[in-house]
Amino acid sequence: MHAAPRLPELGADRQREYRLGIMGGTFDPIHYGHLVTAEQAREALELDLVLFMPAGIPAFKQDKRVTDAEDRYAMTVLATAANPAFDASRFEIDRDGVTYTIDTLRALRANYPDNVKLFFITGADAILDLVTWHDAAAMAELATFIAATRPGYDIEQARQRVAASGVPFDVRYIEIPALAISSTNIRARVSAKKSVRYLTSESVIGYIRKNGLYSSHAVERVDGATAR
Ligand code: NAP
Repeated sequence: MHAAPRLPELGADRQREYRLGIMGGTFDPIHYGHLVTAEQAREALELDLVLFMPAGIPAFKQDKRVTDAEDRYAMTVLATAANPAFDASRFEIDRDGVTYTIDTLRALRANYPDNVKLFFITGADAILDLVTWHDAAAMAELATFIAATRPGYDIEQARQRVAASGVPFDVRYIEIPALAISSTNIRARVSAKKSVRYLTSESVIGYIRKNGLYSSHAVERVDGATAR
């Protein structure tokens, strides 16, 4: 499995511990909120590498319209290219069927020796449902979870839900002001022909324009309703 082609030596020195961050998301599209999240998680948890992992068919989005995986992956590669501690993985988009995080964690665990610890990073809203994810108990054994929150986010609800499940998840919460940016809002702005400059990288904006993404799609409005 070439999950992290730039760091094949991850785990090679058996005398030390390595820390691999897995940045899970739909990335439709990737934006600066995601990049800041990954960078601050990398710093706070001393991660050696953050592997951006665009979901194939996201588990909770089977009835929703999601941009083609190749486009979401291409934008992820463009956005992460300049950071030597970031890499992008095709693993989930190359898999058939629905994306389950447990499959990814198992594959990574099998690919690296035990001195590589796994940290799964994603949005706190997604983490809120963590206990309902496929094979939750096995996930809790394989990784530490990092939940990125927006300022003012009430983490107590998430803490209580995780605690009530009885599954011994290790969840760390990090507040990321830049998460005021959202993919939903970017899609809505592109569709409305509004500027998305400074919300994501110029390379991603160029890709969106060149390929006509989000312009004629049905998009979710900022309030969550669906609009054309
Ligand atoms: P989502 O419901 O689209 O996102 C929930 C919230 O978190 C949104 O506000 C989203 O903002 C934000 N977010 C998503 N990914 C983020 C990231 N990496 N960093 C910071 N904020 C993030 O979530 P999703 O994209 O479907 O799922 C997130 C991850 O959880 C994926 O890797 C997915 O495969 C995994 N997941 C697994 C299961 C399962 O195994 N059963 C179930 C659900 C989710 P934006 O829209 O701006 O990104």
